[in-house]
Amino acid sequence: MEELKETEISCPYCGEFISVLVDPGEVGQQYIEDCQVCCKPIVFVISEDAMGRLLVSVQSEDDA
Ligand SMILES: [Zn+2]
Repeated sequence: MEELKETEISCPYCGEFISVLVDPGEVGQQYIEDCQVCCKPIVFVISEDAMGRLLVSVQSEDDA
């Protein structure tokens, strides 16, 4: 079982920093989770860089 990785993102709506847990098995996927501050749906896109490190980018639902 792969370990969840804690990462910090900035909400595309309100700009607040939020800690989220990302499953390394979700690389290449995207999912929606509501912002803990403004409750708007944030689109998380999970990817990996050339070094195999987990990258998380976020978008507003309108951009997705
Ligand atoms: Zn927010």
